[in-house]
Amino acid sequence: MKRRSFFGLVKPRLSYSAPPDLSSLPLEEVPASRTATFFVPGALESKELLTLKVGDIVKAGQRLAPFAASDDYAVSTLAGKVTAMEPYTDANANNFTAIMVEADAQKEWVDALDENPDLATVAANFQNGPGALCLKPVLDPEVNINTILILGMDQDLLVTAVQHVVKSRTKELAKGVKALKRITKVSKVILAAPSYLVDAVKNCDCEVKEVDTVYPNATPKLVMHKLLGITVPAGKDLIDMGVLCVSAEAVAALGESCTTGKACTDKILTLINKDEEAVNVKVRIGTPIKDVLALKSIMVNSGDRLILGGPMTGVATYSVDLPVQPDTDAIMVQDADNLSEIEDAACINCGECVQVCPAKIPVNVLVRFLENKLYVEGAERFDLLSCVDCGLCSYVCPARIPIYQYIGLAKHELSRMAPEAE
Ligand code: SF4
Ligand code: SF4
Repeated sequence: MKRRSFFGLVKPRLSYSAPPDLSSLPLEEVPASRTATFFVPGALESKELLTLKVGDIVKAGQRLAPFAASDDYAVSTLAGKVTAMEPYTDANANNFTAIMVEADAQKEWVDALDENPDLATVAANFQNGPGALCLKPVLDPEVNINTILILGMDQDLLVTAVQHVVKSRTKELAKGVKALKRITKVSKVILAAPSYLVDAVKNCDCEVKEVDTVYPNATPKLVMHKLLGITVPAGKDLIDMGVLCVSAEAVAALGESCTTGKACTDKILTLINKDEEAVNVKVRIGTPIKDVLALKSIMVNSGDRLILGGPMTGVATYSVDLPVQPDTDAIMVQDADNLSEIEDAACINCGECVQVCPAKIPVNVLVRFLENKLYVEGAERFDLLSCVDCGLCSYVCPARIPIYQYIGLAKHELSRMAPEAE
């Protein structure tokens, strides 16, 4: 066990990684797979309700809207034939319909996008693009968005995908910022980037603010607090404060599409191998994870851990057949021999989680309530909903209690209770 002085509690200083030197480490591309899979929210229940079926031919850029009674859809990133439609349930028990498309030789695209698309078109076409641009709040007449916050920084350690975009696609980013302002009519746009990328974004027509590169300062709520001087109250989101937060990758994709007329289909993500070596790769959205791993000959053996996201906040998954999604910024594989055991032992009340928490939550007490499924009490008495999801409490816990996982489960359960209560 780690020995630490009771009086010598210090916060760990974990720093974000900077993107690689692009001249010495150019972006590698995952070869186009024959198939791609896309998730549409909603369970596959009744064939009578379906407007899409196995055997249908689709174009690249086409919306795959399988349900007659719902507006939900995905966007195909390749032209081909629908070969399977299956139910899929994610780690948070959300139901989706997985639509698999097999490429054909035609590579046919839907009609080109307008050079100056309107808000509704952009909202519809880019939510499934790289960075998952969500403009729904701007379309909602009951929501008042007065600021757009562009995150030009990755949110987890070892991950540099978004920074890679900022560094390498400066023209597209600048064009995207311009388009975003015109489309949304929101004039206050702030781009948050680390000091070493400030030069790269100097031509963007927006205010640029420097993010401190100590983890977890790139978390949206901390960016709001530290750079915009706005504290998001417990249980509220950035939208409630009139701020729409978007990824720089999504904005660059918008800028590129305004030039090419085509929806962007490729995502940049950080691939982290078992030695914690990270490379950024370009991959078509919908590509199976196993094809991304194959690029670097990474094997997932029995007992290894496959993680979508980075080491602090990523989510373990079980299948290399799952597809790369619009917001998959990293894929990480940990070797079975190097996994830190989660013990769920009794809390020794060392206070390290309290010391390290950027939201100043009494985590040592909160975790006891969450272990006993007392989620409402956790929220009402111990500030659960102020958590910014950084994972530092789990990282420092000497009892190896999976605090971050307890918090995630508690928030999920509370979100399920809310509609029931209404
Ligand atoms: S994940 Fe843990 S350390 Fe981070 S804000 Fe939430 S409670 Fe605090
Ligand atoms: S939960 Fe872990 S870090 Fe927090 S007080 Fe208990 S043993 Fe220490």
